[in-house]
Amino acid sequence: MSEIFKCKHCQAEYDVAYSVGTIETGSRDCDVCGKQMDSWTDSRRPVYALKNSAPGGTPGSGAD
Ligand SMILES: [Zn+2]
Repeated sequence: MSEIFKCKHCQAEYDVAYSVGTIETGSRDCDVCGKQMDSWTDSRRPVYALKNSAPGGTPGSGAD
């Protein structure tokens, strides 16, 4: 079973599955806009899989 997570910055949709382990802190940057879209401190670590990328993107052109 998976959930849908939507990036609050660019609305990209991800399937989310949870990996259960020890409690740890983490964060995830959006694959599309590169901004931090989630963070957690939990024993359930979310694993995001991008559902669809927005058309018109130019991969590799991001400045960082
Ligand atoms: Zn995003």
